[in-house]
Amino acid sequence: MKITVYNTLGRQLEGFAPLSPDKILIYHCGPTVYWTQHIGNLRGMTMGDLVVRTLRFFGYDVRHARNYTDVGHLTSDSDAGEDKMEKGAKREGMTPEQIADKYIALFERDTRAINLLEPTYKPRATEYVPDMIAMVQTLLDKGFAYATPLAVYFDVKKFPSYTRLSGQNLEQLLSGAGSADVSDPNKHSPIDFALWFFKAGTHEQALQTWPSPFSSPLVKNGEGFPGWHIECSTMAKKLLGDTIDIHMGGIEHIPVHHTNEIAQSESANDTQFVTYWLHNEHLVVDNEKMAKSLGTGFSLQEIIDKGYDPLALRYFFLGAHYRSKQNFTWDALRAAQNGLEEFRKRFLEQKTATKQESADQISSGAREYKDRFDAALASDFNIPQALAVAWETIKSKLSSKEKYALLKTMDTVLGLNLDAYHEQNRQEDAHIPETVQRLLEEREQARAAQNFERADQLRTAIKEAGYYIEDTPAGPRLGEKT
Ligand SMILES: [Zn+2]
Repeated sequence: MKITVYNTLGRQLEGFAPLSPDKILIYHCGPTVYWTQHIGNLRGMTMGDLVVRTLRFFGYDVRHARNYTDVGHLTSDSDAGEDKMEKGAKREGMTPEQIADKYIALFERDTRAINLLEPTYKPRATEYVPDMIAMVQTLLDKGFAYATPLAVYFDVKKFPSYTRLSGQNLEQLLSGAGSADVSDPNKHSPIDFALWFFKAGTHEQALQTWPSPFSSPLVKNGEGFPGWHIECSTMAKKLLGDTIDIHMGGIEHIPVHHTNEIAQSESANDTQFVTYWLHNEHLVVDNEKMAKSLGTGFSLQEIIDKGYDPLALRYFFLGAHYRSKQNFTWDALRAAQNGLEEFRKRFLEQKTATKQESADQISSGAREYKDRFDAALASDFNIPQALAVAWETIKSKLSSKEKYALLKTMDTVLGLNLDAYHEQNRQEDAHIPETVQRLLEEREQARAAQNFERADQLRTAIKEAGYYIEDTPAGPRLGEKT
């Protein structure tokens, strides 16, 4: 399947050509784990999940790294403000490590609830500090970086293609940046960015620091902590290599974080860092930017507390393309929940009906739906279109067996867990003894094999054990005779 992707680098749709024919390397900027992630962050993570699932669906071996930033991300994405982890630690009277543990656990609970696949790698920045130090040293040795008493900076003027990703005008950037950060008078240029902060100046009280080979007259042993951008450059290099196929993140990362990652990685490694940059647009609430201060930084827990299924949120996310803004409202979520329930019900109907059908052939009609589903995915991950094809499949004149087979395949990308949901429902029958449950399963197998004599014997055995069989849209269920 010929896949096209929209590459932020160059701002156009391009044919997708991986570095190696069957393996794809993806790095996705993960959360800074100092607070509960709001549903806007979860949307970004879901977009990454859909890209990974799509590429696996097309047969690629995908290596996917999604990091945890647990040090060095300041309250401003540029070099100003307090470290977010320390802010979290002070807020809750915990250490930064405890804060990281707490919010990683919460984040992972949420990602499981919305059925995100586990990434191949989940690096924590604090576990890669020696590698970060090595990369900063490389940049110093090559003349791309310099130290002041307060920090080691990347020297932007040494990297002429600095604005390639963002398309910004460097002159304008320079004049705009003039007022942003005046905390270090020795910085050569206001747009130079920190690779390493010494435990000095505004960071004199920093809680997470490491010794380093870098020198400052203000600290012993180069004590300090890494900048946020070098973390991602280092973890990507260490886990995936010098050049990767796809780098993902929110559009807010284009002008600073990802621009800086490119500058660091390409200067240190002497090769292109990323082939395709994919950026997801934001989730807005009632058409406004999400904000904790407005009470609209909703968490998944708030959605669950209001009685929604977490997968209804996933279903809602499937309704917008990753490069489009999506507007969250409670009405829209309610509509998504209804849509999901209807989708599940129709899926189960096909599954149940399938057991009675003997048709084996996948018709050319069924292949047409599959082809259209594939084409939607291959067209820059057009998930809303793919979901629409899934709905058309349900409503089509195909046989139940074909529909069931197609929908199961489609759900490997959509991730609505359709088959498992059915199994979970069955487990509500847990009070029925396992021996009897097994008789039912055997009867299903006998019926599938068209051994109706055996099926009838098993029905009698179930009856004698004191239970009856009820056929429901979710398949046959057992009831206890009263
Ligand atoms: Zn990052």
